[in-house]
Order: sequence, then C-alpha cells, then structure tokens
Amino acid sequence: MIIELMQKVLRVSKALREKSPAQLDVRTQTMHAPERYRGEHRIDYETCIGCDACNKICPVHAITMKKLPFKKQNIVPEVNLSVCIFCGLCEDVCPTKPEKSIVLSGGRYDMISGGWHSDQKSFWVHVDIPQSYIDSRLEAEEATRVKKELEAKKKEALASAKKPNSGSGTPDFSGGTV
Ligand code: SF4
Ligand code: SF4
Repeated sequence: MIIELMQKVLRVSKALREKSPAQLDVRTQTMHAPERYRGEHRIDYETCIGCDACNKICPVHAITMKKLPFKKQNIVPEVNLSVCIFCGLCEDVCPTKPEKSIVLSGGRYDMISGGWHSDQKSFWVHVDIPQSYIDSRLEAEEATRVKKELEAKKKEALASAKKPNSGSGTPDFSGGTV
C-alpha cells in the first residue's frame, strides 16, 4: 500500500516537472522535428541556377522569382508561406546536385502568427543577398567580359594578318601590287 502510494506520488511529481509537447511555448521552444519534416524553405542563392522549375511546378503559385542584378543566374525563388501547401514539389524538381537549392526542412518549423495583417511579411521566405556577394559576382562578370573582348580582338588581328596582301595596297592582277 505504501509502495503504491509512493509510486503514485513519484509519477505525479514527474508529470508536474516535465511538460508535455502540448504545453511547450512554441514561441520560445522549437519542437523536435524529424529529418524529413517540412518546415520553412531554405533557398541557396549561390547554388540556384535560376531554372524557374520550382516556380513552374508550384500548384498554388506560392513562388515568385526575384530578379538579381547579374547577367547569368539572374533570378532566384522566393516563397509566400501563407499560400504554400508544403507539398514539397519545388524541392523534388530542383535539379541542382548534390544539394537541392530549395529545401523545405532547412528553416523554421514553428510558423505562428499573431494574426495581424502586418505579420504577413513574416510569411515570406525572402532571399537576402549580401552586398559583398553581389559586388564579387559583378566584378567576376566584368572580368569575363573584358577577357572575351580581348580574345575577340586578338582573333580578329590574327585573321587579318593571315589574309593575303593584307595592308599592302590594291591587288594587281597582272602580277604584283600597285
Ligand atoms: S512546397 Fe509546394 S506549394 Fe509550397 S512553394 Fe513548394 S511547390 Fe509550392
Ligand atoms: S528549381 Fe532549384 S535551381 Fe531551379 S530556380 Fe528553383 S531553386 Fe533554383
């Protein structure tokens, strides 16, 4: 009898000490999520090739493509989580390897809102690109442009040097130059 009573007391005190998942305050304590849990998207702007496949496959038009200031790979997806149904198709279709450029388990899991209109902006997965990255990409693009221009000029000069009688006057068809 006494042992049973003590066991009951222990169980109750344990239950009081340990909060059940339902009692956790999701604003301060993130829940444990399994590896394949579908939470907020993580978008990698460095590996994304801007193919637009994720945008095209999205069944609810939750994705918009953000324009980047580069010549190549100049778009990257952004996601409106208030529209998204977390189907995962955008992640499935992303062709980049070995890592997908858009994944659903790389961000927040506890997406709650106060319910105000102003909270709507927190439902967006925006892609913020550091200015230093933008500058380095633009510099690299400019260097490639200059290199290509120089190579084209070089080829042009070589081609004109190979031409017969180039730069030595009008050809004389009677045997010699005028
Ligand atoms: S998870 Fe589905 S609904 Fe959400 S952005 Fe990706 S494709 Fe669209
Ligand atoms: S499918 Fe992948 S690589 Fe293509 S735009 Fe979307 S995130 Fe980028």
